[in-house]
Amino acid sequence: MFAAQSKRGQSFNDIIFINNAQARARSRIAGSGAVINGTIGALLDDNGEIVTFQAVDRIHRDLDVRSQSPYAPMGGYPAFLEAAEAYCFGENHPGLPMRGVAVSGGLAGIHHAILNYTEPGDFILTSDWFWGPYQAIADETGRKLKTFPLLASGGPDWARFEETMKELACEQANIFLLMNTPAHNPTGYSLSDEEFAHMLSLCNRLDHPVVLFLDVAYIEYAEAGRKDIFKLLSRLTDKVLTLVDYSISKGFAKYGLRTAALFALHRDDDVLEEFVQIMLLSNRGTYGSVSSTGQLLLAGLYQEKDLSARYREELEQWRIVLTRRAQVFFETILPGLAMPYRDGFFAAVSSRDPRQVCEKLKEDDIFLVPLGKGIRVALCSLSCEQSRRVAEAFNTLAEKECL
Ligand code: PLP
Repeated sequence: MFAAQSKRGQSFNDIIFINNAQARARSRIAGSGAVINGTIGALLDDNGEIVTFQAVDRIHRDLDVRSQSPYAPMGGYPAFLEAAEAYCFGENHPGLPMRGVAVSGGLAGIHHAILNYTEPGDFILTSDWFWGPYQAIADETGRKLKTFPLLASGGPDWARFEETMKELACEQANIFLLMNTPAHNPTGYSLSDEEFAHMLSLCNRLDHPVVLFLDVAYIEYAEAGRKDIFKLLSRLTDKVLTLVDYSISKGFAKYGLRTAALFALHRDDDVLEEFVQIMLLSNRGTYGSVSSTGQLLLAGLYQEKDLSARYREELEQWRIVLTRRAQVFFETILPGLAMPYRDGFFAAVSSRDPRQVCEKLKEDDIFLVPLGKGIRVALCSLSCEQSRRVAEAFNTLAEKECL
């Protein structure tokens, strides 16, 4: 075997992919109607087909083949960055100077930021419920995760958060705070404006360099007012650098085009110029420049004002569908079983033994994702009826004290 010593014996066995494959296999035997596949992190219609937006697809189909064929500039097309900034921040621009670079999906944005703003061996601070690839990125880059309770008593445990920040301030040059809000994966929690403002005040109070990384992968599915958090960023002192990672995967349903924009916000132009330079180097040294297709698509949509308006209408209709699924789930599930949900693709149910519970649910043809602290339910991939059945299955397990 040739793998480096540090990689030997490792294998890719992501439980999401395993349970998804099992759900598909079961559908082939039992019939697709019988099986509930709540593992998929993409928006599906009630027939299990992926949702795309007609207005976006129209631009996609009409893109000129020649113009998509060359390499894009290493930092992205200016028209793409302009479009991404407008869609992401909308009316809620914080008024801070900002620069952006294109990255190969939101995932690359997280990767590049961690690589460039922390040292090997450093900790990344995030919430105790988190998206699995955060750990994978930390492992690949030789960093470690440290967590604080996101929902200990209905909301973030700010005392633990502050304590951990202080500890890290004694050990590391930068504190890297990785926050997935609004519409958090896997819980669907969104920080309220008050919570967000409080988090910013704790960053300010620390008087130590903080890189505040906002993973806003699901922001377009959060209720409209959630983007107000961006305006609050102007309260940050110059000790804090904010990075905002905005992907077209979910918001524009172009998961496979691997396109996102990473924005840095800071008053000092040297900080922003440094950001651009180190991100260009990371693009160059990893995935190269970003998909021309994804970038031209977003730029084209933004320039076609009528289609852009139609996209927003379609998005709103699907956001309402998602909200209804969540309503059914939360109206059915017994109080106290699910984590507090506000927006987005996922809900989470806490459990002492998530793997065991997921195995039990498979007996009822329900396939979900076990995590460290509970089970993820991808409401985005379930109909209302399926959401109700999943909630009922949890109720039954709770009544038997199997959760
Ligand atoms: N952040 C979170 C929490 C996610 O769930 C995802 C995708 O599932 C991403 C970031 C990155 O998505 P992409 O790399 O497709 O833009």
